[in-house]
Amino acid sequence: MSRGPRCLPHPAFDRRGLLKRSGALALLLGAGELAWGAGIVAVRVWPATEYTRVTIESDQALSARHLLIESPDRLVIDIDNLELSPALRELVGKVRADDPFITGVRVGQNQPRTVRLVIDLKQPTAPQLFRLSPVAAYQHRLVFDLYPTKAPDPLRALLREKTQAEEQAARAVQDALGEFIDRMDRPGIPEAPPVAAAKPPARPPQVAAAPAPTPSPPMTPAPPPPPSAEQLRKIDRLIVVALDPGHGGEDPGAIGPSGLKEKDVVLAVALQLRDRLNAIPGMRAMLTRDDDFFVPLHERVNKARRVKADLFVSIHADAFINPKARGAGVFALSNKGASSAAARWMAQRENRADRIGGTNLKSSDVHVMRALLDMSTTAQIKDSLEIGKEVLSQIGKVGRLHKRQVEQASFAVLKAPDIPSILVETAFISNPEEERKLADPDYRGELVKALTTGIRRYFARNPPVARNRTL
Ligand SMILES: [Zn+2]
Repeated sequence: MSRGPRCLPHPAFDRRGLLKRSGALALLLGAGELAWGAGIVAVRVWPATEYTRVTIESDQALSARHLLIESPDRLVIDIDNLELSPALRELVGKVRADDPFITGVRVGQNQPRTVRLVIDLKQPTAPQLFRLSPVAAYQHRLVFDLYPTKAPDPLRALLREKTQAEEQAARAVQDALGEFIDRMDRPGIPEAPPVAAAKPPARPPQVAAAPAPTPSPPMTPAPPPPPSAEQLRKIDRLIVVALDPGHGGEDPGAIGPSGLKEKDVVLAVALQLRDRLNAIPGMRAMLTRDDDFFVPLHERVNKARRVKADLFVSIHADAFINPKARGAGVFALSNKGASSAAARWMAQRENRADRIGGTNLKSSDVHVMRALLDMSTTAQIKDSLEIGKEVLSQIGKVGRLHKRQVEQASFAVLKAPDIPSILVETAFISNPEEERKLADPDYRGELVKALTTGIRRYFARNPPVARNRTL
């Protein structure tokens, strides 16, 4: 990328490449003419292990340049046509001591018409700067996302654990069947029942359902039984459940009449659900976000696919046009249009999250990524409806249901082609009574218990098959 002005977002924007150009003004945002004296509406900092985001919201689009300086690491940002204001100074006090990336922020009027921010960094950082146009309640936003130059992968350990469990399971199944075949080969034993010996069925319970061997003629030793469902169940592999608390960071989700935010409620539910699922032997839960930061929709799905999750559960607590709407609901994907007008409305609302949360991707990039995830299969939808039904019947015991059936619509976050995926609307936060319930830790505890039972019952009936078993 050459020096000089560039408008963002730009496809060639390489966050790593910027690091090497110290001394150069690597990027110029918005080279167009801008009016003098933009007003700062708000400044926000969203610290998280994955990345820290700094947002400057203003009543006019801001133009900025940035420069990375090493030893010590710091990011210098010059914002043009701006006067230092108390609102901007607030940024200094908004940095938390435990921010993984930022030590502190200094602000000053560098030139009569340029404000300089110096962000002192805790680690080598690859920044992304971009602007967002007004959307929902937000005016113009200038965003700096600070990513680590070497991204840690918290999912790798989970994936390794799962792979090891799968290999172990494959070996154990092979041993059990090998032993069975050996015994069948011994002289004096009639031919093995073809189903169990030649081709083990895909799912352990079906092994138990295999036809019993034909009674042997008298005086011949009885053939050994095929490995039982119980034997196979014991060596089944780790089940991974991806939990996806909706919204986060700049995207608050729906807001209740007394100010309760959907993003906070669903994170609390997901954290509690993770602990409950992790307490079940053979089950592990991972979160698409474990803090208050924004994750784009396709990235939520990618995270689940990276750990080869067996189930994806997106957790929400939405608002509806009618404040009287109430009750929990469960949604699965539809590739044939929504099951009701309300379901379509909900999906459209949820799918706006990327615009509100703010991503640095061009909409065409997002489009390509979504298209890759858009190969939804009938099998995925069938499994999703089945798990959805199980979960819906459990949450129906705890609280009121919006609809007795699993609803379907085109939710972007449910589009992993290979993972059964459901979206749980825990309640309508727009309904004052339900907002009160969602704020109550006891009610959330009941809800988490119901979700756990639903998930557990589904896997008891449909134990997942180990992938890549070498049989
Ligand atoms: Zn939501």
